[in-house]
Amino acid sequence: MNLPVVYHPNYVAPLPEGHRFPMVKFSLLHSLLLKDGIVTGDNIYSPELPLFESIELVHAADYVRDYSQGTLHPKAQRRIGLPWSPALVQRTCIAVGGTILTARLALKHGLACNTAGGTHHAFPSFGSGFCIFNDIAIAARTLQELGLVKKILIVDLDVHQGDGTAYIFQNDESVFTFSMHCQSNFPGTKQRSDLDVPLVEGLDDDGYLWTLSQYLEDLLSQVKPDLVFYDAGVDTHINDLLGKLALTDTGIYRREMQVLSTCLSAGYPVASVIGGGYAKDISSLVYRHSLLHRAAAQAYRLYKL
Ligand SMILES: [Zn+2]
Repeated sequence: MNLPVVYHPNYVAPLPEGHRFPMVKFSLLHSLLLKDGIVTGDNIYSPELPLFESIELVHAADYVRDYSQGTLHPKAQRRIGLPWSPALVQRTCIAVGGTILTARLALKHGLACNTAGGTHHAFPSFGSGFCIFNDIAIAARTLQELGLVKKILIVDLDVHQGDGTAYIFQNDESVFTFSMHCQSNFPGTKQRSDLDVPLVEGLDDDGYLWTLSQYLEDLLSQVKPDLVFYDAGVDTHINDLLGKLALTDTGIYRREMQVLSTCLSAGYPVASVIGGGYAKDISSLVYRHSLLHRAAAQAYRLYKL
């Protein structure tokens, strides 16, 4: 048995030509993982669409309805930054289903990775910054509702603060939100996570990894989660169009190994999502995202999951 990886062809929905959101990366990531043997016939899992009841564990029913039917106010639609289409609704929902499935697989096998997810700027009644429904928040509440987990730790290392996630769980002691992000980046107004670690612009591999090491291990022993969600955004990379940090490919791989080893060696299961990443050179970007799955495949063998 190899590392469980979750993918669905509907992770890609057409966008207008030249749109700055690199939608095609999801299918290219799947192709690269297949080509490099990280995904084979026996470790790829296909998600189902989530129930509206699951989405509404986090989001307001009128927002879910208006978005799904394409009747959201134009201003609210613009804040999301992606033009509405029925295909995008499908894409949004199947990616949420993907993170729910990833979480269930992580509980069963100790570690699992989605090839999408990390829509952490989605708030209960509105979307923002390319995020429509908050996949990790929905998956967390869904697994709690099913009685599969009680305590959850969200480790959000996307370069942008996980503001929607922080807001959703601000009064919920069963979910601990940890966000390490570039201070001077989007969103302009930050929310309060249970632990925020703001970073200065231009931080490099060693500075970043040292800072992370100061928090993660202690957090695990403090929170003692039944499940860790890991948002492995690669917009921390030096060549990212929207990030302002200076991690290299090697730094990102070391980060993924550090997060996974710290959690797995202490016996905590991890459900990973890919998070943000923006570049004109799409193949470099896809490779950066694949570092998560490469590290996870190695960790899966190392810890004999
Ligand atoms: Zn981001």
